[in-house]
Amino acid sequence: MAFRLVVASHNEHKIREIRQLTAHMDLEVVGVAEMGDLPPVEEDGETFRDNARKKALETAQLLKEWVLADDSGLEVDALDGAPGVHSARFAGEGGGDECNNRLLLSRLGDLPLAERGAQFRCVMALASPDGEVEFSEGICRGVIGFEPRGSNGFGYDPLFIVPELGCTFAELSSEEKNRISHRSRAIQGMLEILERVSQRA
Ligand code: IMP
Repeated sequence: MAFRLVVASHNEHKIREIRQLTAHMDLEVVGVAEMGDLPPVEEDGETFRDNARKKALETAQLLKEWVLADDSGLEVDALDGAPGVHSARFAGEGGGDECNNRLLLSRLGDLPLAERGAQFRCVMALASPDGEVEFSEGICRGVIGFEPRGSNGFGYDPLFIVPELGCTFAELSSEEKNRISHRSRAIQGMLEILERVSQRA
């Protein structure tokens, strides 16, 4: 029987990506929305790890299922790691991607490119029905540009330049971004853990 993995996310794109990357395994990947109405988990942790653990654990305990959750965001060197866990709401509740990007540009002012280093970080947590949690992490380094470029992706993608490619995440196709993104790197790490626990279960 296939090992069932519930992904604690309502983002169809993330769920599809996890399904594609685990296609070679005997896994049934289902989004949390398919599991009925669940109370939302408040993401009030101080680290990506805290938030990913909380989402995975609370959902696993409610459903008595294996649950995968992630938390991610942008860490800017010159801002001591901000916006970090506050990435989605950097410019305030309801501000949205454009306001967040504008605020980021104004915080960096005219700092030269050499001082505009940043990274996207993604932490994934896998919780078992009886409360064990394992983690994987992925990082993608880049620099913050001086103006938005490109129209693909979401969030800070138009400002995030990948130096080796000379373009922003928003100028890459989703396949190209998935090859190097923090999220795909975290999923790669999680695959080994999933292979192990799915054979044990
Ligand atoms: P979440 O972990 O998907 O909830 O992401 C939190 C926030 O981090 C998002 O709302 C974005 O602002 C930012 N973020 C995370 N991953 C990415 C990415 O791949 N591109 C751009 N922004 C991202």
